[in-house]
Amino acid sequence: MTSYLAAVFPRPNSPIEFRDFSEPDLEPGSALLHTAFSEVCGTDVHLYHGRLTGVPYPIIPGHVSIGVIAKMRGALKTVNGDALKEGDLVTFLDVHETCGACYHCLVVDQPNRCPSRKVYGITYSANDGLLGGWSQAIYMKPGVKMIHIPKELSPQTFIGGGCGLVTALHAVDMSKIRLGESVAVMGAGPVGQSVVALASLSGAGDIAVFDRVADRLDFARDMGATDTIDISMPRQLRLDAARSLTRGRGFDIVIEASGHPDAVSEALDIVRDGGQVVVCGHYTDNGSVEIHPHWQINRKHVELRGCWGSRYEHFHRAVEIAARFGDTKPWSAMAGQSYALSDVGSALEAVANRSLVKAVVRVQ
Ligand SMILES: [Zn+2]
Ligand SMILES: [Zn+2]
Repeated sequence: MTSYLAAVFPRPNSPIEFRDFSEPDLEPGSALLHTAFSEVCGTDVHLYHGRLTGVPYPIIPGHVSIGVIAKMRGALKTVNGDALKEGDLVTFLDVHETCGACYHCLVVDQPNRCPSRKVYGITYSANDGLLGGWSQAIYMKPGVKMIHIPKELSPQTFIGGGCGLVTALHAVDMSKIRLGESVAVMGAGPVGQSVVALASLSGAGDIAVFDRVADRLDFARDMGATDTIDISMPRQLRLDAARSLTRGRGFDIVIEASGHPDAVSEALDIVRDGGQVVVCGHYTDNGSVEIHPHWQINRKHVELRGCWGSRYEHFHRAVEIAARFGDTKPWSAMAGQSYALSDVGSALEAVANRSLVKAVVRVQ
């Protein structure tokens, strides 16, 4: 009987284990991928430390992945109507089981908040099978939405953008950037880098990025940033710098992708009157911050929004964008280094200590 090796977080703050899983029986409408690439991002570091709620340990981490269809049962198609066949190189939306029947799904059109929603590599247990990407194979449950990696898209480009690209697309959509508008991006991690790339593709004017890591700020310029601000300078100096970039008005749009509570308050300080702030960096609970409702929100007439997860449309368009603009936006270089599955612990360590923006697990 065929078996597959997978990396497992047995419980929070415990060493990674490698376990053998037997090949699953395929239900009608399901498929089995032989994994090609998966990614290691900040969420995996949070999962390792037990900082997300509702995670059914043990889990096989790895949410955004690419693989080759090894087996399938029944006729499956992509949303484009293309038939899926054995041997095809595909990726899939990690979000699954959004019910389409609850209040969030049906009445208020917010499937991101559907209570039935599950995510590969995060909210599926390893006890339920090969449902994470740090594995030689991934089981595509019936209804999982797969899409081909187009010929013109290198898998390294898509996995380099990975979940950060999908999240960034959702946040940039929410901000409704108009041609020529100024954008500030708080945080130059994987989400922030993709926000910069997408803001520039959306026709933003000045794009200023805030971070303390010089390499990340340099890379943001390759993604399309016009200005960078080192946040290790005193707060007042960086607020002055932000004001001088915008003739004292503040930025039309600020997207917070850093995960630091202070950055949310600072975003409200540097946005212009009547501007927009989108918060997408606080995927885990990083604490609270004092906000002054009069000066920072009410009087400024600011629009403040939170952005949680992503929907199929963001994933689908992320594939299209990576295929179309992968030559001009260096997503492939963002995944600094690829690691063998057996060395995924080193990849996790590199992301945790921020020596890499993100890491890629090369499985086959
Ligand atoms: Zn629902
Ligand atoms: Zn991720």
